[in-house]
Order: sequence, then structure tokens, then C-alpha cells
Amino acid sequence: MGIALQVIEIAVASIPEDLRRARVARVNLTVGKLSAVVSESLRFCFEVASRETPVEGAELVIEEVDVVARCNACGHQWTIEEPAFSCPHCNSGDITLISGRELDIRSIEIEDETNDTTDAEQPDRGRGRSL
Ligand SMILES: [Zn+2]
Repeated sequence: MGIALQVIEIAVASIPEDLRRARVARVNLTVGKLSAVVSESLRFCFEVASRETPVEGAELVIEEVDVVARCNACGHQWTIEEPAFSCPHCNSGDITLISGRELDIRSIEIEDETNDTTDAEQPDRGRGRSL
């Protein structure tokens, strides 16, 4: 749940002050395959936690990125398919994971809804604190 909340906080904070009726239409995430983030549960938490916020109903687009490692001994670079952390080239165990553990918000798309709705819904804007 923590990750979903962080994503929502960042998305809410990204809405410009002058777009008072704006809402977040889409959040594009990059998630490494080794980041231990399960896309389905993240999606579920996001949906639940975004209720009553300007992020409610936003589409969460999750792109999974491969785990890329580099051998510190010979410089060989490869994509890890399964947890076997030694260099396939020289067998060294001295490797660095270059990507695959990250969770990045690549972009947030904001929609400005200027249509005059009469409902008195007040989006909660007090949560845009930075992390
Ligand atoms: Zn190597």
C-alpha cells in the first residue's frame, strides 16, 4: 500500500495550482522486474487509495523493465532472466545491477475539466507534500 500512496501523493502534487478542476488522467510507471512490486496489487491499492482524490479514476500504466547486470570483473553486461547472479561470461560473482530494481514515475498526464458541474465536490488538495 505504501508505494501506491506515494505515487498518489506525487501525482496530486504535480497538478498545477492554477488548474483548480484538473484531475490526473494517467500515471505512467516504470517498474523493475526485481523491484518486488506486484503490478496487480499495486493497481488495486492505487485504485482504492485514490478515491476522493484528484487522482481517482486515473489510469495506472505499468511498464516492467528487464533486470540488467554488469560484471565488475570483465565488464560484460546482460539481462537477468532468473536469479542467477554470476557473470555468464567469466563466472565472476562480482556484479552490479544496473536496472531492474527501480520504480519510477515517468510521466503524469493531467486533464483540465472545465465543464461546469454543479456538484460541490471539493478535491482534497492538502496532501501534496513532497516526500
Ligand atoms: Zn564477467
